[in-house]
Amino acid sequence: MKKEYCFDTRVIHEGGSRDNWEGATLPPIFQTASHAHPTAESLSQAFAGQGDDHVYMRLSNPTNKFLEEKLASLESGRGAVVTGSGMAAINNACMTLLRSGDELVAGRSLFMSTSFLFTSLFKKYGITAHLVDPLDLTGFARAITEKTRFLYVETIGNPAMDIPDITALARLAHDNGLPLLVDNTLASPWLFRPIEFGADVVIHSTTKYLSGHGAAMGGVVIDGGRFDWTQERFPDFAPFVEKKGELAFLDRMWREHHINFGTPQAPFHSFLTLLGLDTLALRMERHMENAIKVAGFLRDHPKVAWVNYPGLEDHPCFEMASAQFKGKGFGSMLTFGLKDQAACFSMIDNLKIVRHVANLGDCKSLVIHPYSTQFLSHDEAEKKRLNISPGMIRLSVGIENWEDICYDIDQALQVDVSTNGDVSTNVDALIGDGSTLHGDGSMKPPPEDTEEKVQ
Ligand SMILES: *Cc1c(COP(=O)(O)O)cnc(C)c1O
Repeated sequence: MKKEYCFDTRVIHEGGSRDNWEGATLPPIFQTASHAHPTAESLSQAFAGQGDDHVYMRLSNPTNKFLEEKLASLESGRGAVVTGSGMAAINNACMTLLRSGDELVAGRSLFMSTSFLFTSLFKKYGITAHLVDPLDLTGFARAITEKTRFLYVETIGNPAMDIPDITALARLAHDNGLPLLVDNTLASPWLFRPIEFGADVVIHSTTKYLSGHGAAMGGVVIDGGRFDWTQERFPDFAPFVEKKGELAFLDRMWREHHINFGTPQAPFHSFLTLLGLDTLALRMERHMENAIKVAGFLRDHPKVAWVNYPGLEDHPCFEMASAQFKGKGFGSMLTFGLKDQAACFSMIDNLKIVRHVANLGDCKSLVIHPYSTQFLSHDEAEKKRLNISPGMIRLSVGIENWEDICYDIDQALQVDVSTNGDVSTNVDALIGDGSTLHGDGSMKPPPEDTEEKVQ
């Protein structure tokens, strides 16, 4: 009987051919813009799209290809294309499906640049994005029209921390002859594989958990290979279906958008991502454990007004996340509330190990004050609608010792000049043995105007 290796083994050993590696145990970096061909016939065939030969780095590269085959397999997809950034991946996947006059329906909890892409840039090209509550299926259903080309959600909304039901959304999409696209960046395939739940296309910013060290930038689009592109909403897919069958979407994306918009990945970044992937399972395990403990610590901290983390039992998405992520965890991002912006700035300025950066999914713990950074240019009403309040901190919990993370946050909160210094915390008591997790139902609710979001 053939033994199926489990994910934690496959993440290290899976990938494409190692034939030209000379026995190297790490993937060689093919640092070359172009590839010489032995005969005129061979290059002509490559241009005709026959065979697997590489031609030019903007089209393909052996190091990138190894990463593509690994990621396609890890996400239970049939093929993948890596790109220079997560945004390039999102842009490529969406633009392959859209023409002027088309529409898309997306869960409102979107990565900031994705939100800008959908609502501002696409609008310039006559494309309408309907943004709806990611937890409200009927909202999605109501927004679908005959011009809709796809549904789009993020596995874990950022920074809303809401978790949509992928199975139900896939069913709704397919009932309407539409594909479901999922940005799975915040979960990683270790925690969740959307294609196994019915999604058709999965996108990652590999900059985050997949590379894991804040060193590489990249993105990937993975094709589940199951969507029927001969359906009436996609008449312009016929030639690609004819040529590439189940990989019609990926082939079209690669041929039209990846190559001609020029969104290739640099092979050195693929190499760094591959190096990071070797420890994905270990890192994710520790991320999940740490996040739940840090969330429990913050929930009980006297200077913390509220904590938004799906791993706390009274979080509105706790049940959904437990079922969908099969008890493996709840992601390692959370938000929490302090008194006001001054309290947030003071805390950030006084942190010693938790770093203050615009990134997430790094092995280091990272914080940011979304109100004054990523959402700076959003008007007040929009920030209110997205629950971005002046007292909100976003924390990406790293893989350090979790008590050290708590101590660092606690000492940074103690020097908060905006309070009268009348609150003293027994940090040891708060940390306890970490067993107060999963809540006793005492999670402080988010402030009033955030309730609509996380109902
Ligand atoms: C970071 C991020 C992106 C964009 O990825 P880049 O690699 O920064 O271009 C897209 N989606 C999510 C959920 C992200 O966190």
